[in-house]
Parts: sequence; C-alpha cells; structure tokens
Amino acid sequence: MTTVRVRIAPSPTGNLHIGTARTAVFNWLYARHQNGKFILRIEDTDKARSRPEYTENIKSGLEWLGLNWDEGPFFQTQRLDKYQAAIQTLLDQDLAYLCYCTTEELDQMRSEQKANGLAPRYDNRHRNLTEQEKADFAAAGRKPVIRFKIDDDREISWQDAVRGRVLWKGSDLGGDMVIARAGESDGIGQPLYNLAVVVDDMDMEINHVIRGEDHIANTAKQILLYEALGADIPVFAHTPLILNEEGKKLSKRDGVTSIDDFRKMGFLPVALANYMALLGWTPPDSTEEIFTLEQAAEKFELERVNKAGAKFDWAKLDWINSQYLHQIPAGELVELLIPYWQDAGYSIDLEGDRSWLESLAAMIAPSLNRLSDGVSETKMFFAESVAYTDEAIAFLKQENVSDILSGVITALDEAETLGADEAKAIIKQVTKGLKVKKGLVMRSLRAGLTGEMHGPDLTQSWLLLHQKGWDKLRLEKALSLID
Ligand code: GLU
Repeated sequence: MTTVRVRIAPSPTGNLHIGTARTAVFNWLYARHQNGKFILRIEDTDKARSRPEYTENIKSGLEWLGLNWDEGPFFQTQRLDKYQAAIQTLLDQDLAYLCYCTTEELDQMRSEQKANGLAPRYDNRHRNLTEQEKADFAAAGRKPVIRFKIDDDREISWQDAVRGRVLWKGSDLGGDMVIARAGESDGIGQPLYNLAVVVDDMDMEINHVIRGEDHIANTAKQILLYEALGADIPVFAHTPLILNEEGKKLSKRDGVTSIDDFRKMGFLPVALANYMALLGWTPPDSTEEIFTLEQAAEKFELERVNKAGAKFDWAKLDWINSQYLHQIPAGELVELLIPYWQDAGYSIDLEGDRSWLESLAAMIAPSLNRLSDGVSETKMFFAESVAYTDEAIAFLKQENVSDILSGVITALDEAETLGADEAKAIIKQVTKGLKVKKGLVMRSLRAGLTGEMHGPDLTQSWLLLHQKGWDKLRLEKALSLID
C-alpha cells in the first residue's frame, strides 16, 4: 500500500497564520491517521517578501502546537534547478512559450476588456510568435516571461475529498499562465507558485494535497501542469475558509491572525490545536469537543470535513481553553502564569514567593478562561496598597462598616497566626460582637482589603495578603477613607 504523504507549504512572508495552522492541523491529523508522512516545505521563492524570521516563527509555531513534521523543512529557493528543468521540458514540448508582452501592453489589453464588459484575462497573443517576431522583440531589449498553454475548451475536473466532484473550464483560468518571470539575462527567471508547487509535490511524492478552498482555481491549473509533466495527480481536499462572526473571511481586522497572537492572549497550545481541529471537522461522535490531536488523529477522515465555511467562535475557544486550564495542577499553572505577571510588570520574587504564588494560582484557577485573565484578577496581590473603586468607597461609608474594620484590626492584633480557621473565627466574632449580618462583614472585608466589591475567594485572598503583611495596612487605609 502506498504511504500517504501530505505537506504544509507556508510562504514565509508573515508569521504563522491561523488559517495555515488549521490547514497544518488537518494535514497532520490525516497523516497520523493514515500512518503517513507530514512534510514541511517553505515556499520562499518570493525573495522580496520572504524573511528568515518568518520561517523561524512558522517552525516554532508548528512545534508549539505539537505539529511535528517527518521530513523537511525543504526550501524552494534551494530547488530552483528542478523548476528550471521542468520549465525547459514544457518549452521543449511546446506546452509553454516565451511571451514578450510589456506591462503597458497587458494593462491596455485589460482595460479594453473591462471597457467591453469582459473579465480581464491574457488573450494568448504571443502563443504563436514566429522566430522573426521573437528575434525582433529580443533585439528591442524585451525580456520574456514564460507562459504555460491553457486551452479555453479544456474541462478540468477532479473528485475532491471534501467537496466532491469539482469542474472548471479552461476558459475560466485567465488565459495562458505565467510560470516563470523574465530572467535577468536571457535565461529562465524566477519560477512562480503553481509551477514550483507541482514540481515539488511531484518530487516529494505528495499524494494528498489538503489546503484551503481559496486554492481551488490553482488546483485546476496545477492539474494541467501534472498532465503536461506526465505525473500522477494527487487527491485534492479543499478545506473550508475560517470566517469571522459576520461570516466574512477571518482577517487582521478581526483582532488576531497569527498563532503568536493567540499564545500571547493566553491560549494553551493543546486547547488551540483542539479548537482548530473543530474548525471545519466534525468528529464521528459530534458531541465530543475536548480531545488532544493524538486522540483526534485516531478518528480523522477527510469525509467528515465540512464544505461550509467554519465560523470562528471566541466563546467556544475560551471554553475549550478553560477546560484545559482548570485541569492543570497549581504547580504547573503558576509556571504558565509567571510570564504574564512579569510582562504586566508585577514585582515577583520567584524564589521566596514560590509557594505563595502557587496558592495565588490555585485560587484564581477556577475563573480562568485564558492565562491572561490571571493578570487583572491578581493585580491587587502584587502591591502593598490598592486603588479603591468608587463603588468600594461608597460601600465603606455605609453604617457599621468602620466598626467592622476596626473590629477585624483589633482581632488581627490579638491573633498570633492567621490561617483559614482563624480568619473564619474573626469573621464570626465580629459578626456576633456587632450584631450585624455576616454578609456585611464579608463585603466590608472585601472592600477594605481589595478596594473592589467583587473578586476571588475572600478568605483565601485575605490569607494571601496577610502572608505579605498587607491586610492590616489596607484595612487601616480603608478606615482612613471613611472619615
Ligand atoms: N504557499 C502556499 C500558501 O501559503 C501553499 C499553498 C499550497 O498548499 O499549495 O498558500
């Protein structure tokens, strides 16, 4: 049986994009399910826009998500001789030709087409130049591009593993396509995407091409190239686009696009990978939502990839992330939170505060959707004093509150140690002593200790502040705000 070979072929013209990462997830899942190979190819022929730092970002992003590749990375810029050889073969067989049109001529052709209500396309005008015409153009200093012939009356069809039968007309492909730019001297210039991809996919024995549906028209062109080069045509699977809440293609305007952005926002790689697998794929048990990539790979079939666009649902991603976050032991969670606290500029003593930080992490864990949520929620634990909200100040001014706070301060002075039991005892003692409701004591404490009316577990917060020696100071400060 032939081994399934799939690839992800990003262009290093930007950081690893969510769309590319999701395509990588599907390729990886398919490869693992089929016991096949997942190959990484960097499509860096566009020298002006490709950068080594983007390649690094793409590699580290794939690794972060757990999308390990079996072969590569291969770089197109190191394979130019292979493209040139293929182009030469096409020229020799008269399947490709030199086109000497200038940019001005092409522009004029397109504006005439537009003026006549026609779709802009190349009209194949240099397909049958005589040797004399070619020589004249060359003598005039024109540098030719190389075009591959696409007959208008061709019909191209394939059985797409996601979309079923797809049919394209040759006449809808924009005329003979450029496969190489003009060379500096008289040689073949930079090969273009469709040609390079086909040569690579042939050479790397890719037998399943799984990529975004925005490549459908390219697939039609590429099938013609496979035929011309005498190669087997792979199975194509076009995955649905990722859409924003309005149903439009997810773009930079939607806030995030790169995997780095998601990492910075506090998503865990397992959760993000889990969510991306669901962006267009439905597991056989459609109620199943939490799984690792390995678990998904056991069940992944291209037949269960949807045709319709996949709406990006932030609430669902948050929920999936929270499911993972809530399972992480505090000792590990604290390690994940520390960089966020450091980025927020909180002063942290990593050595001395270790167990205190761990208790802090354990306290906020149940309310976290994203790691970054752990920043605002803990702000009040990283400085001696806090700013009091208007709501808290108004509350502090209510009847009985100053007596409650003074009562707690006195009890604290008398207490030798403060643990959960002692804290509860103090609350009870003040409640009884002043004959007030327990809820009022709790709210007074929260306002006095944290400067806010809402927040994480109160007793636990109090103990953490006490361990820093800040509880009494804050209660005294609160008292001073009352008069
Ligand atoms: N470099 C192309 C891209 O990033 C690859 C498309 C393909 O998979 O053929 O869109």
